[in-house]
Amino acid sequence: MRERGCSEEELFSFLSSKRREDLGYHNILSSMCTSPHPVAERVHAMFLETNLGDPGLFRGTASLEDLLVRRIGELMHHPDAGGYATSGGTESNIQALRIAKKRKPVASPNVVVPASAHFSFEKACDMLSLEMRTAPVDACYRMEVDALDGIVDKNTVCIVGIVGTTEYGMIDPIARLSELAEERETFLHVDAAFGGMVVPFLQNPAPFDFQLPGVDSISVDPHKMGMSTIPAGCLLVRDARMFTCLNVDTPYLTVKQECTLAGTRSGASVAAALAVLEYLGKDGMRAIVAGCMENTRRLIEGMETFGCPRAVTPDVNVATFVCDASPAGWRVSRTRNGHMRIVCMPHVHRDVIEAFLRDMGELNA
Ligand SMILES: *Cc1c(COP(=O)(O)O)cnc(C)c1O
Repeated sequence: MRERGCSEEELFSFLSSKRREDLGYHNILSSMCTSPHPVAERVHAMFLETNLGDPGLFRGTASLEDLLVRRIGELMHHPDAGGYATSGGTESNIQALRIAKKRKPVASPNVVVPASAHFSFEKACDMLSLEMRTAPVDACYRMEVDALDGIVDKNTVCIVGIVGTTEYGMIDPIARLSELAEERETFLHVDAAFGGMVVPFLQNPAPFDFQLPGVDSISVDPHKMGMSTIPAGCLLVRDARMFTCLNVDTPYLTVKQECTLAGTRSGASVAAALAVLEYLGKDGMRAIVAGCMENTRRLIEGMETFGCPRAVTPDVNVATFVCDASPAGWRVSRTRNGHMRIVCMPHVHRDVIEAFLRDMGELNA
């Protein structure tokens, strides 16, 4: 550290120069995060100093967390679901696997995830000493449920299905997983980190949530399609008592026990997440999701006129292409299979799609 502090002017000019090295969201087509909704920004500033790790000191903020859980529970067809605000999908997935592991004490526990699973499961399994078994996906990158017979066994503590896969935007056959999980009496975790804030706002979506009796827990990330500030995730469980197995004693806090992974937790992004949902309502979310889906369709149609076919028709707003080149000035990403991947987040407006397609056209000319 410096012996003596620097001037505000020097400090802020240094920070501004660093901030200018960041990319703006405008040309970012590769991220599942987006510019926060203006309401989220305002609320975040308002709740800056709140700590949900000591809820008795911040009762108002803590009740907003409860309300966020209730709102997302309602979206998942279970208003009384238990839950708490996590730092994102990674923490939600880790915590879900912790619960599953504790509920079924076996000598060598394993978890079955689809090959399309997010890398957070690798971290979770490493931390929890769980064997991670990978189930194949079909030609549309959805989990192959028929293949599970040879993979799920008596040591399987959890089966994971994904709603809105990170790479291809696909929804696994959760209804069939629910049946299988019930038959095998196995915990079923649904990773809807991305799709949880998309699918409920589509027209007539297939059930993927607590409507299905086999679903035990669900991850949903407000800091992705929920347009909150970062970090805002949410882990929901069918019965709040499922968290009891994670409780530790917290002698010097206003609560006697806690089940969260983090201790100190900012309430700012949690209040922001709730605020966006309250402000937009289902109507507002439907409009945003419809726009993102329309832009995804337009992008796919446009790319195919350049001879870049879609890798698959996605279930949510993630488009992937067989396409080697990408125009300068744009951030796109690549899947593990080498497909070009574009996430049509709310900041990727129609004019952004058209500008990208123009640049693709010039590249092909
Ligand atoms: C983004 C994502 C995660 C991880 O979420 P973080 O917020 O980055 O921790 C997990 N699962 C899926 C399906 C995701 O899309």
